[in-house]
Amino acid sequence: MTTIKLHNTRTRRKEEFTPLDKDNVRMYVCGPTVYDRAHLGNARPVVVFDVLYRLLRHVYGAEHVTYVRNFTDVDDKINARAAESGRSIGEITAETTQWFLDDMAALGALEPDHMPRATQYIPQMVAMIEGLIAKGHAYEAEGHVLFAVDSWREGYGKLSGRSVDDMIAGARVEVAPYKRNPMDFVLWKPSSDDLPGWDSPWGRGRPGWHIECSAMAHELLGESFDIHGGGNDLMFPHHENEIAQSCCAHPEGEFAKVWLHNEMLQVEGKKMSKSLGNFFTVRDLLDQGIPGEVIRFVFLSTHYRKPMDWTAEKAQNAINTLREWSFLTLGAKDGQVDDDVLDALVDDLNTAEAMHRLNEIYKDGEDSVLLASAKLLGLNLTEVGQQKWAHLFEFEVSDDKFLKEGIDYQPTVGVIGWGEVSDELRDTSLSLVHRWLAYRRESNWADADRLKSEAAALGVELRASRSSSGINNGIASLSSTYIDPAKLEALK
Ligand code: AMP
Ligand code: ZN
Repeated sequence: MTTIKLHNTRTRRKEEFTPLDKDNVRMYVCGPTVYDRAHLGNARPVVVFDVLYRLLRHVYGAEHVTYVRNFTDVDDKINARAAESGRSIGEITAETTQWFLDDMAALGALEPDHMPRATQYIPQMVAMIEGLIAKGHAYEAEGHVLFAVDSWREGYGKLSGRSVDDMIAGARVEVAPYKRNPMDFVLWKPSSDDLPGWDSPWGRGRPGWHIECSAMAHELLGESFDIHGGGNDLMFPHHENEIAQSCCAHPEGEFAKVWLHNEMLQVEGKKMSKSLGNFFTVRDLLDQGIPGEVIRFVFLSTHYRKPMDWTAEKAQNAINTLREWSFLTLGAKDGQVDDDVLDALVDDLNTAEAMHRLNEIYKDGEDSVLLASAKLLGLNLTEVGQQKWAHLFEFEVSDDKFLKEGIDYQPTVGVIGWGEVSDELRDTSLSLVHRWLAYRRESNWADADRLKSEAAALGVELRASRSSSGINNGIASLSSTYIDPAKLEALK
C-alpha cells in the first residue's frame, strides 16, 4: 500500500502515516464560526484538508475514511452580530452556514462525512465538563467552569512548544479574579436571559469555544483518532486546550495522533485586513467572475506549510493554464493517476510539486492522465471545459485606415473566449483599440504606450496582430467582464 508522509506538528517531524484502523481512517478539522461570509483565508484550510481527504480516500478507499468538520454556531461574535443587526441568532447561523457550504462547493471541496453543529452537542459537552471536574482537572468559580492547567502541567503546551510559565509571562489575557492560574480557560460560562443558554449543573449557561471540538470529536471519532487539522493560528490556545480537555477527560485515549497546520494566506504580500483595504470574501471573488477552480488552482500552487500569497497575477495565470488544460482534455476519458503526482501528494501533501507535474503531463499531451490526476487534486477539467468563464475575451479589429482609403476590407470583430459580455463593454473595448491603432499608425509611440499601460491598469491588454492579408489588427484582451466601460471610454 502507498505510504503517506505527513509533517506532525506534535513531533515537528515528517512521519510515515499509519492509521489506527485502515478500515476507518479518521480526521477532524476545525470549522468556521458562522456569523459572516468566509474570507479568502478561511478557504485555505478547507482546500488543504479537502486534498488530504481525497488522498486518504484514494489510498484507503472512499468508504474507509471519516472526515468531520464542525460548525461553531454558539459564540459571542454571533451574539454580537444578532444584537447589532436585530436578526435572530438562528437566522444568522442558518444563513451563514449555507453560504459557507455554497462557497466551499464552488471551490470544489467535498462535503465532510459529518458536519456537526456545536448546539447539537451540548449534553456531550456538559458530560465531558462534569468528568473533568470529577477528575480534578476543572473547577467551578462564580458560575464559570474553568480548566485547571496546573492539573496537567506535564502535557499542557507540548503541541505549541511552550511551558505554562512562559505562557503566563507572555500572556496579554485579561485575568479574571476567579481564575486559579491566569492560563486557566473557560469550559462553561453563565448566560444572561438575553443570551443563548442551556441548563447545566452550574446554572444556565453556554460552552466555551474549545470544549465544542473536544466533545464533537469524541462523539464522532472516539477517544483516539488519526488526524486533526486547522490553520496554525489555532495551534495556541485552541488546539492546546482541545488536547488538554480530551486527554484529561479520556486518559485511555491519545486524542489526535497527527496534527497538521496550514500557514496563513496573504494578499499581494500583505496580511489580509479590513484596515489595509485588501480584505475580501470567497464570494467577492466568485462575484467578480473568478471561477472557484481558479482559486483552488492558486491555493494548490503553494505548499500548505508555506505562507500563501494571493495575487491577481497568479489568478490570471491560473485562468490561462486551466483553459489550456481543459482544451486538451476535452472529450478525454479518465486514465490512471500519474505516479509522480501521487508521489508528490504522499510526500506531506506537496501540491506545488503535483501542480508542476500536471503541467508536464499537459505538455506531453497525455490527456486522460491529466484528467485523472487533476481530479485527484479536486480540479474537474471536464467541468472547467463546459463552463462559460467570463474571462479572456479578446476583441480583434482591423485598422480602419483601410476603409478610409477605400480598400474594400471590413474590420473584423472577433471574439475569442467564453461567456458573455455586455454590448457596452464590447463597444468601448473596440473603440479603445481603434484609438490605440490610430496612435500607432501615426507613429505616436508615446501616446500608444501610455494608452496601453492605462488600459492594462483597468484589466484590458492591448496587443497588435496582423491578419493573413497583411492588415494591421489590434486586439483588446479583457481579464474580466466586470471592467467599467465608462472608465475605458475615458481613456484617450
Ligand atoms: P476563524 O473563523 O477565524 O476561526 O477561522 C476559520 C479557519 O480559517 C481556521 O482554520 C483558521 O485557522 C483559518 N484562517 C483564518 N484566517 C486565515 C488566513 N489568513 N489564512 C489561512 N487560514 C486562515
Ligand atoms: Zn477546534
